Amino acid sequence: MGGALTWNRVPCVLLPGAGASHDGEDSMKIMTIYAHPADTITNCGGTLARHAARGDQIVALILSHGGRIHANKYAEEWRKENPDGDIATAGLDDIVANKKGELERAAEIIGIGEIITLDHEDTYATVNEEVVEEIAERIALEQPEIVICDHPRNPAYFDPHSVATQMALAALSRAGTYLRNLDGRDDVPVRQVFLSGLPVYNLDGLSLGGVRNDCYVDITEVVGTKLAAMDQFVSQGYHGVFARKLVESFNGEAGRAAGVNFAEAYVRLYNETYSHLPVTEAALATDPLTRHITYSSVNLRGQYPVP
Ligand SMILES: [Zn+2]
Repeated sequence: MGGALTWNRVPCVLLPGAGASHDGEDSMKIMTIYAHPADTITNCGGTLARHAARGDQIVALILSHGGRIHANKYAEEWRKENPDGDIATAGLDDIVANKKGELERAAEIIGIGEIITLDHEDTYATVNEEVVEEIAERIALEQPEIVICDHPRNPAYFDPHSVATQMALAALSRAGTYLRNLDGRDDVPVRQVFLSGLPVYNLDGLSLGGVRNDCYVDITEVVGTKLAAMDQFVSQGYHGVFARKLVESFNGEAGRAAGVNFAEAYVRLYNETYSHLPVTEAALATDPLTRHITYSSVNLRGQYPVP
C-alpha cells in the first residue's frame, strides 16, 4: 500500500474542482466490480471520469462476457422481414467481441486504464466459490484502496447484480485475510467500498428507517463524458435516447437529493472516522432558497443532443 490517502473523505457531495489540489503522486486506485460490461458506466461512469481526470488509477473488473444481456441488436434483427445474414447468424464469439469493442471505447472515453473481463456466462444465478477466488486474486494483484460495486439491495430476489456483489464482498473478505504462510501473499486492506444503485434518495437520515444513499458525487461537469461513453453501447440500445433518459432521471434524481444537476449516489460499506465533525464544501455553499433552481439549470438534451 502507498502513503496516506489524500482523497477528500468528507461525506456528501464532492464539488466540481474539489479534487483540483489532489497530489498526483499519491493517486489512489479504484477497482469497480460489476456483473455486466455497461454496469460500470451506468452506475459510476461520471465518478470514474472525475477520478481519472485528477490522475487516479481505475481498473474495471467485469464478471460476465455480456453476450446475452440486452442483446437488442440481434433480437431486433430477427424481428425484421429480411434479417441481415451477418447479424442474424452471429455466434457467441462475434456477439461478445462486439460488446467488448463497445466496452473498450467507453472505457477510453471515461479514462478507465484497465479492463478485466472474467467472461462468465451472464446467466449465472448463484454465488460461486471459484468466482469468489478469481475476484479475490484480482483484488490482491491490483491492490485497490477503493472498490465500487452494486448495492446488493434485496438478495432474496434473484438479481445477477446482487449475486455479483455478494461474490465481490466475499472476495474482499477473502483478500483481507490472505496470509503469506498459507496463501503466498499478504492481506489486502481495501479502505472503503462504495455501493451504487440503491434507488432511495431521501434527503435525511431519519426517513425510511435510515435506508438511504449517504454519499453523492457531483458529475455535472462530466455528464457529457458519461453520455459519450453510454453512446458506445449501441448493440444493447443504451446509446442515444436511453443514455439521456437514464442520466436525466437516474442521475437527475440523485442530483436533486444532492443539490446539484447530476450526481451518482453511493452507500458506504464501512464507517468513516474524522478528527472533527465533517461539513462539506457543498453544504457550506448551498443556498436553501435557490437550491432547487440551480440544480435544475442544465438542459441535458439541448447541451448533449442525441448523436
Ligand atoms: Zn447489469
